[in-house]
Amino acid sequence: MRVLHWFREDLRLSDNTALYKAAAQGEIICVFCLPKGLGAASQWWLHHSIKSLMADLDKQGVRLILSEEDPIKAVPKIVERLQIDLVTWNRVYSPAGITDGKELKALLVEQGVQAGSYNSSMLSEPTQVFNKQGAPFKVFTPFWKHCLKTLKTDLPLPVPKMRGIKGQEDSESDCLDDWDLLPHSPNWAQGFAQHWEPGEKGADAKWMIFVESKIAQYADGRDHPALNSTSTLSPHLAWGEIGPRQLWHQVYELMASNQINNTNGQKFLAQIGWREYSRYLLVHFPDIETQPFNKKFKTFPWADNARVISAWQRGLTGYPIVDAGMRELWHTGYMHNRVRMIVASFLTKHLLCHWKHGADWFWDTLVDADLANNTASWQWVAGSGADAAPYFRVFNPILQGEKFDPQGDYTRKWVPELSKLDKKFLYKPWEASDEVLHDAGVILGKNYPIPIVGHREARQRALTAYQDMKTIHQ
Ligand code: FAD
Repeated sequence: MRVLHWFREDLRLSDNTALYKAAAQGEIICVFCLPKGLGAASQWWLHHSIKSLMADLDKQGVRLILSEEDPIKAVPKIVERLQIDLVTWNRVYSPAGITDGKELKALLVEQGVQAGSYNSSMLSEPTQVFNKQGAPFKVFTPFWKHCLKTLKTDLPLPVPKMRGIKGQEDSESDCLDDWDLLPHSPNWAQGFAQHWEPGEKGADAKWMIFVESKIAQYADGRDHPALNSTSTLSPHLAWGEIGPRQLWHQVYELMASNQINNTNGQKFLAQIGWREYSRYLLVHFPDIETQPFNKKFKTFPWADNARVISAWQRGLTGYPIVDAGMRELWHTGYMHNRVRMIVASFLTKHLLCHWKHGADWFWDTLVDADLANNTASWQWVAGSGADAAPYFRVFNPILQGEKFDPQGDYTRKWVPELSKLDKKFLYKPWEASDEVLHDAGVILGKNYPIPIVGHREARQRALTAYQDMKTIHQ
């Protein structure tokens, strides 16, 4: 049998259900179609990840065809040209991913070709998880409790032994470099390679470091950006270079052998749970990509302002912890989760700008840009999401800095103009005396901005806007 495996968000060979099934059926060839609308940082990641996947497949004598065409067009053409009998793929749970899978299946049936789709990116199938009333869960805790009780996660699959379809070494394919995914003039991604190694090998290495030196302190460390205690697996998970079943089973093994305690193991699995829940929400409520989950927020009086959005994007708000996060994002394509929450709260509440502006900026600049996680998280912080943080909980960027970066190491790293400022004033430089500022080499308004909004007034403005929205709906 001649089998075509369609790679999507599953850029790995191990624990790849559809690829494993394909390899068991016959000789293989693979295809990857360039997704539309990727952010710039994701494009950088994808270029390197595809290169790594191609090299891994090549070692097994399997070819990866690249196509810029929509998969609905590209796959049937390859099927025809190479006389394929079976097409396999792993499901993608975004609205567009679901549509593509359904349409392709229908076309293949018409062509008289077999199609096999599988789940390799989630612990459970989202369309099979419901509450006692048979409705989708809308709150994380009961959802995750239910999953923990009912999950029967298959053991991860090994890398399959594969046989490539012979004689297809020269079959038509785009050239990766012609996709022009890497930035140039200027190459703003210069710093990325110091932080990241896209591809399955890089994912495995990150996971090993996490298991050996971080997970045992995860529960306490994960909220402190300076400690670098989290896995930083998010871009690898977004592209499927490692899968959640692999993490799940290893964490259970570590807990069973007492190498880590349950608190740390379960805390980490709960984050995988949030990933699971975000995908689940997007499957059951697909319009959350653009519409507020809580419909009352349709009338929220957002006060979008291009000048303040630009200051936020460039890390020039005058609030050091916010600026540190936005600059970490720009330089590395990543931002620590605690800081993501702080900057998102600042944009939607202090600046009263629509969460979509933030989600779009993150989409373009994050190497881990992930439609489900990004959408659900932004709505959660903005107060309009399922199970959201209440709108009236406005993060205080001064206290958040003092609490979660108490020594100021993270903030000083990314906002070097404040590096000499005493930690007493690090999160509120405007309260320091002229002498203290002078000694630290800080000139407010010159080499570091004066805050673009006052915390108290901004908080009050946000609460008033929230009250106005509630009044409309009474
Ligand atoms: P760990 O703490 O090591 O967690 C392990 C994995 O669990 C992560 O890699 C991620 O896949 C998942 N995870 C962790 N926290 C969350 C969460 N709150 N929601 C969903 N999944 C989670 N994550 C993305 O992967 N892509 C995004 O585009 C994205 N946008 C975000 C936007 C905002 C405003 C906020 C507040 C959070 C966003 N997150 C996003 C979630 C989270 O910040 C990142 O997943 C996390 O910081 C990645 O770091 P890590 O891999 O070290 O996480």
